[in-house]
Amino acid sequence: MRTKILGKIILSVALALAAGSFALAGCGGGQSAHEHSYVWTTVSAADCKHEGLATGKCSCGDTKTKILSKTDHVYKLVENPAATCLSDGKRMQKCLYCGAEKDVVTLPRTGHKWKDVAVLYDADCQNPGRKLCECEYCRDKQEFEIEPKGHDIDENSWDIDKEPTFFEDGLKSHHCKREGCGYRTGETKIDSLHYSQPEVTYNIKLLKTNGDSLPRTSTPTITVRDKDGLQKGAADAFEYAITLPSDQIFYVEVSGLPEGYIPQESYPLIPGESDAVIKIPAAPIEFVTETHGRYAIGSVIIDDPFTVVEESSANDYKTSLGALLKEYKGIFINMYFNSCGACNYELPAFVSAYNSVSAYGEKYSDEIAVVMINCTDSTDAIRTKKITEHIPMTMAAHDRWLSAHFENIAKAYPTSIWIDCEGVIVGSVTGAMGQNSFTGYFDLLLDRYYKINGAERPNKTEQSTVKTACPALLPAKRRYA
Ligand SMILES: [Zn+2]
Ligand SMILES: [Zn+2]
Ligand SMILES: [Zn+2]
Ligand SMILES: [Zn+2]
Repeated sequence: MRTKILGKIILSVALALAAGSFALAGCGGGQSAHEHSYVWTTVSAADCKHEGLATGKCSCGDTKTKILSKTDHVYKLVENPAATCLSDGKRMQKCLYCGAEKDVVTLPRTGHKWKDVAVLYDADCQNPGRKLCECEYCRDKQEFEIEPKGHDIDENSWDIDKEPTFFEDGLKSHHCKREGCGYRTGETKIDSLHYSQPEVTYNIKLLKTNGDSLPRTSTPTITVRDKDGLQKGAADAFEYAITLPSDQIFYVEVSGLPEGYIPQESYPLIPGESDAVIKIPAAPIEFVTETHGRYAIGSVIIDDPFTVVEESSANDYKTSLGALLKEYKGIFINMYFNSCGACNYELPAFVSAYNSVSAYGEKYSDEIAVVMINCTDSTDAIRTKKITEHIPMTMAAHDRWLSAHFENIAKAYPTSIWIDCEGVIVGSVTGAMGQNSFTGYFDLLLDRYYKINGAERPNKTEQSTVKTACPALLPAKRRYA
């Protein structure tokens, strides 16, 4: 700016000097023509909006005016107003001095830019969820739906709904992988196994229930029959491998076991369970009484259910011999009827034995399940006897079926029958007994329990901590099933 003003001054001086030399040549002559030489003075400066005005004065006194043309605008790029989420903005070149605008461009509104801030509740496979969002620009908040996720199905992987067996088809489908959904699709049958494996080989082994081998004093006979009793194979051996069709069940009979071991009459061979281990009661039977009928000494009991009579009928409950064997080391059964003189004679000794403690410190009532089975009287009569004679033992309600199982061992009354922890009926005595006889048979059951488990009977008076578990109830003879 300063150089510009300086330039103007220099120009004015030069003009003045030129005018001076002309003045010498002509202005003094009065009439003769001369070139006016004006000295210009700015009256109003031009800017970008207005023209300016200047006056010139010649030494001859002549004056003149001239228009000074507008200057250029000085533009700057501005955005005003700026675009917001919801309203358009403008961008333009705007003159710093006069505000003149050019190249005006509309800036479109940005729209909100939503960012998730919280899931109010999530969507699942089929139902939408809801979430809260905040605009990154203007901080507005708004709720939005979360789209259902759809089922998460992998068409290439199958879930097994039912494993096929040798006899029944299985089922597979694709399950939705999302937890808690339960949706499945594409249910497809799986062929039963006998299509892919028409024959199976069974390895039949005779072992004691504790897994030990049987004594080799004599060789048993293993016979395999189909369901109609037709013989399919036999061997005199402790182990026998046989290949059979897989679409049916066959049965094994074992006879000629070493002395004292009780043969189980018939074991099913189930395809898929190719190691058919036939378990023989682990300890030989010491007491054998000649009996007939349903249960015999050496039979394995069925898991007979029965109702237990309590002093109030509201407290009666159901249990079974099998269930008792899960809690006790053996079962002692007493067969009686209310008007039986010998039964009533032995009852006080029986109660005392039940309430007593063994030489090993065991409370018999904690170790042996003692069940009184009545063969004749009504459940009400049994309840009255329990109340009036304060009988602490388990008293079975009258049940023809339950008592019938034992009736042929108990040919007369009372008869006591003891069953070991594997469910084998080990022995019986008919006739009234004294307290020491009862505890003697309780001890026999406990000794047998530890013998089967290959353990020492712990002496509880010495705070022994030995723990043992009885093997499972042996399968009942099929004849009775
Ligand atoms: Zn002049
Ligand atoms: Zn301007
Ligand atoms: Zn916004
Ligand atoms: Zn799903």
